[in-house]
Amino acid sequence: MLGKMKGAAMSPARSDVLEKAADPALFRTAVRSWVEATVKADRTVFSGRAGDIFYDRQQWWMAERNKVGLGTPHWPEAYGGADLSLKNQIILAEEMARAGAPVMSLFTVSLNHVPATLIRWGTEEQKTRYLPGVAKGVVWCQGFSEPGAGSDLASLRTRAVRDGDSYIINGQKIWSSYSMFAEYCILLTRTDPNVKKQAGITYFIMDMKSKGVEVRPLRQANGGAGFAEVFLTDVRIPVENRVGKENEGWTVAQSTLSAERGILVFESGERLRYVMEEFYADALRNAADWLRDSEMTREFVRLFAEMQGCRQLLRRLLRENEANAPSAFETVIYVKIISTTLRKKIGDFMLRTKGLGGQFHTQSFDEMTSDPMNIYIGSFAGTIAGGSNEIMRNVLAEKVLKMPRS
Ligand SMILES: Cc1cc2nc3c(=O)[nH]c(=O)nc-3n(C[C@H](O)[C@H](O)[C@H](O)COP(=O)(O)OP(=O)(O)OC[C@H]3O[C@@H](n4cnc5c(N)ncnc54)[C@H](O)[C@@H]3O)c2cc1C
Repeated sequence: MLGKMKGAAMSPARSDVLEKAADPALFRTAVRSWVEATVKADRTVFSGRAGDIFYDRQQWWMAERNKVGLGTPHWPEAYGGADLSLKNQIILAEEMARAGAPVMSLFTVSLNHVPATLIRWGTEEQKTRYLPGVAKGVVWCQGFSEPGAGSDLASLRTRAVRDGDSYIINGQKIWSSYSMFAEYCILLTRTDPNVKKQAGITYFIMDMKSKGVEVRPLRQANGGAGFAEVFLTDVRIPVENRVGKENEGWTVAQSTLSAERGILVFESGERLRYVMEEFYADALRNAADWLRDSEMTREFVRLFAEMQGCRQLLRRLLRENEANAPSAFETVIYVKIISTTLRKKIGDFMLRTKGLGGQFHTQSFDEMTSDPMNIYIGSFAGTIAGGSNEIMRNVLAEKVLKMPRS
């Protein structure tokens, strides 16, 4: 989410933590003591529990955040948010990273993509009907990519045909994160195949319980299944669930896609700092072999410096976003390329320091863990998600360097 979203004023009761929002230093102290105590409780509630705890832990964390009004910190008060300033959002992200709080990945679409889209393009009825549920833990997914439409998203072929008061949808989506848990989906479809591809797209809210929706999870290299294919066969979506006008979904989708930048990436950069610091502290505690290898220590220092540079770049991006500076367009691309390739290099480095033992991957309690195999395997996703790094380089070449399109 880029800074704050706009909305009409309303003042819900503020928690002890939010009461401190006017003073950044006090706010930091209040957030720190709340998050530290709550994360400790997290360890007690979930450690030792068998099976897949991901969903339960995410919902628990959302509920805990809501108790102090931090479920939707960046939303306008009109929609039940805390309406925090960018400065306070940064403090919150820093403290979450510092304490190793759960990453709210299950809610990425609900908390960011949905409000960024509905607040700008939704009808009042859509906003009142759907936004309050998000803070209560309703999960949404994003049904944009298709087997033949990822980088070239506008080529999507899932068809929507108007039939009275509804549309009938047929097609297939892929890589839809956490769609197996989702109650709703923001869906892009083709309503007019006979015009320029961007011009014939329509945007919908789809109830995942609709007849004809089939979700098939995809098993990943790290053993988890965070994505799914979504097959749509004669699914009926009422006209009132259309977001924006028919055939104008491409414009609406730009608001959704812009939600992937900003504070979300910032928090992940902050977490990387603590992962590296803990990795180094662990090496010292255990007198790791690599500390006696000058090539390896030099490489670590170089990566650490790159990580710090990346944190500065992220801060620059937030400042530019807040000022609506045109340069933010470029900075967000640098951030995407630099931060995702850095994560890959760090994962690769950590794995090498562990020797053969590092090859044995174990599922760990924390999502963001210092387990090298987890970091290494997971690092590839970042270079693809939200527009692959190759596409980002193309955009830089064409839009920033003004190079000719080949
Ligand atoms: C972690 C993660 C979460 C995701 N979550 C979702 C989600 O919730 N919902 C959703 O709809 N989608 C989601 N996606 C899908 C994501 O948007 C697509 O993977 C991405 O847009 C790339 O599309 P693709 O996989 O079809 O690859 P393709 O577009 O087929 O690209 C394949 C390769 O070719 C390269 N390539 C393609 N075109 C060019 C070109 N013109 N120039 C140079 N190189 C090119 C690409 O960089 C890539 O390396 C997710 C992906 C990831 C990794």
